[in-house]
Amino acid sequence: MHKILETLRDAQKALEVLLWPHPIQAEEIIADSSEATMVDLVVSGYEWLCLNCHEENSEIKATENVTCRKCGKGFETYLPQYTYE
Ligand SMILES: [Zn+2]
Repeated sequence: MHKILETLRDAQKALEVLLWPHPIQAEEIIADSSEATMVDLVVSGYEWLCLNCHEENSEIKATENVTCRKCGKGFETYLPQYTYE
């Protein structure tokens, strides 16, 4: 009798996910000086989809490694991507 070997479902799945910045939450800022010409671009967080359970996760910072809040599986990340590019 041959033993039946269980295959690991996730063994061949990619271990990297993409980080997507949230849309910028623009706050109305009244400049102290009418001569000011520069503003801050603020990113409020990054979203990524778990390759294991498809949970949509979010991170405050862009990091090289993330862990799914639902299933606990960890992934490496690509550089952040922008939704509207
Ligand atoms: Zn997951």
